[in-house]
Amino acid sequence: MLKAPIGILGGTFDPIHIGHLRPAIEARDTLELAEIRLIPNHIPPHRANPFCSSEQRLAMVRLAAAENRHFVVDERELKRDKPSYTIDTLIELRHELPDTPLCFLMGMDSLLSLPSWHRWQELLDYGHLVVSTRPGWQLDYPAGVAQLLTNHHTSDASALHRQLAGHIWLADNQPVELSATRLRALLEAGQDTRYLLPESVAHYIDQQGLYRANRR
Ligand code: ATP
Repeated sequence: MLKAPIGILGGTFDPIHIGHLRPAIEARDTLELAEIRLIPNHIPPHRANPFCSSEQRLAMVRLAAAENRHFVVDERELKRDKPSYTIDTLIELRHELPDTPLCFLMGMDSLLSLPSWHRWQELLDYGHLVVSTRPGWQLDYPAGVAQLLTNHHTSDASALHRQLAGHIWLADNQPVELSATRLRALLEAGQDTRYLLPESVAHYIDQQGLYRANRR
């Protein structure tokens, strides 16, 4: 007997916002996921982004997670001194949780770019993919993704409970038109960002003076 599936959401979270949180919560409810693990990515120091340090991104993810008992923060990628590939994280989780279906959550933009991911065709050996709608990104798949959908798409939610891996679920979530890029631009311009991110995260950004125009 398998355990209830969990959701996994990796991201830069620079900062975390409702475009991450709402689709994740809706997936949790629709698919009856036991929890959602938020996994902030490690980013190499030489990259132009992120705007915040790993510690600050982690602090914001922790604040967001503290407001909902279904969110769990997983720091594994930040603890490594090199970027992790999603496939490596999924393989690790599969070993740690041998009886738990893993649902890797992503926005439609991520699904469309999947063929550029390291060992992308193996992802479905270790988990399911749960894809949220995202405004601006349509069901216009590159050939590799179309083939993947032909082979793995399901509209039977119970299949994600009955098997450890191997299915793709296209969520019918309330679309959220927001990116961290847009949010940073609003913050830099000193505009009101209420209701776009948790208040506790907004407060932290304010306190730390993050994303302000005069910072750079
Ligand atoms: P940036 O604008 O800095 O590129 P982002 O807002 O796209 O950031 P990421 O941390 O890169 O956020 O995204 C992590 C995951 O969350 C990705 O799978 C992405 O598709 C998904 N995601 C982010 N924003 C949304 C949104 N508004 N709707 C659905 N999924 C989203």
